[in-house]
Amino acid sequence: MPVSQKIKEILNYVQTCSPGQEEFYQATHEVLHSLVPLLEQDSRYLEYNILESIVVPERSIIFRVNWVDDTGKRRTNVGYRVQFSSAIGPYKGGLRFHPSVNLGIIKFLGFEQIFKNALTGLQIGGAKGGSNFDPKGKSDNEIMRFCQAFMSELYKHIGKQRDVPAGDIGVGAREIGYLFGQYKKLTGEFEGVLTGKGLNWGGSKLRKEATGYGSVYFAENFLKVYGKDLAGKRCTVSGSGNVAIHTIEKLYDVGAIPISCSDSKGTIYHENGIELASLKAVKEIHQQSLEAYAALHPDAVYTSTAHYPKEGHAVWQIPCDVAFPSATQNELTLVDAQKLVDNGCILVNEGANMPTTPEAVEYLRLHGVLFSPGKAANSGGVATSQLEMSQNASMSNWSAEEVDIKLRTIMQTVFKTAYDTSVEFGCEGDLIKGANIAGFRKVADSMIEQGSV
Ligand code: NDP
Repeated sequence: MPVSQKIKEILNYVQTCSPGQEEFYQATHEVLHSLVPLLEQDSRYLEYNILESIVVPERSIIFRVNWVDDTGKRRTNVGYRVQFSSAIGPYKGGLRFHPSVNLGIIKFLGFEQIFKNALTGLQIGGAKGGSNFDPKGKSDNEIMRFCQAFMSELYKHIGKQRDVPAGDIGVGAREIGYLFGQYKKLTGEFEGVLTGKGLNWGGSKLRKEATGYGSVYFAENFLKVYGKDLAGKRCTVSGSGNVAIHTIEKLYDVGAIPISCSDSKGTIYHENGIELASLKAVKEIHQQSLEAYAALHPDAVYTSTAHYPKEGHAVWQIPCDVAFPSATQNELTLVDAQKLVDNGCILVNEGANMPTTPEAVEYLRLHGVLFSPGKAANSGGVATSQLEMSQNASMSNWSAEEVDIKLRTIMQTVFKTAYDTSVEFGCEGDLIKGANIAGFRKVADSMIEQGSV
């Protein structure tokens, strides 16, 4: 049977046995189709049924999370942990707390995480988890009680050699702290079972900054191949959370000009460059909407999401040289891609997971825009999480400079692996194919070597 026919069969099977999981189909569709050149070259992967196996998580845990709000009312949310693949190491991947979370979203993120983690060159498997709990508008005590209730179930399934969760959307240092405290209380163990921990109790320097910094390092590596760099480039960034803020911070360090940020309510365009201290104050200290940033800077333009057509996003209408989508999945659509091309954008570098829709990716590539897929470009976060695990295991504490050097090296390796693989398979610069093939090959070979387990 031709490889493309086999892939079609598997994708049909994925749809039949996981109804309604659109984001998961999108991710499996992209990955499986990009593997065609490898599957045609090496028949072992189909022979050993690796594709059928890899699209099914090793384990999906769904659980009830009961907690009590500040009025004394009992509340219930759904918790998830999808342990997708342990072929190359203990499960590793973040926890997301957001009302949009469902099994399909967690499976798409967990599936992507398998290949991302393999690309880093580190021994970590793929997983993801979270809850449809919405941290927005909750008091600190409510967040704490929710995290404690969530961990009261999750602790049975994780461990430093088993599964090591981290943060993601809605889960930052505060939530990791409450989750860790509850894990310790339930197990009596002070161990590196979570990453993104506080610096006083086992966290790594630069973990918070790593995804955004790593995304910029990745873009630099990519541009360098074509004799370009980021100095003086006008960069649009979406989001205003952990990844976006540290992308903006590193863009300034390398001499670029980050001119935008966004949140779920609106977009800021600041022609002379985002004022980082104000952005941090608005988002990290006061947890306000970006309207508060606009109030501090009358020369910045604020566009409310409500005033924007559903299929397009204000942030991608801003003329730029390089775009860094760093908020959430499917936030850069075909109309956005058309605008970026019209405006002369040369690179789209994904800081978020799967922020660009398949139609938009296709359009960008057809029009010669360089494209860095999130599983490669944002892998600095999980790589630094692994550095945190290493420090915990050896009871050491590296300086920020040491971690930064390691992070730069890892991002260089991730880029080189994806790029060299694209060259090997005759599609130079197609980092989607390069990253997927390189990540898949490592995991699939390990699955073959470990037998049918
Ligand atoms: P944060 O929660 O810190 O920030 C998320 C940002 O995205 C916020 O500005 C939020 O706005 C915005 N956002 C979220 N959902 C939507 C939406 N539906 N529409 C518009 N804006 C939205 O998350 P992170 O910065 O940690 O994560 C951002 C992305 O990067 C995610 O895709 C995540 O999976 C990915 N990632 C994160 C890593 C990490 O280390 N943190 C590692 C690798 C990938 P608002 O505040 O208004 O909701």
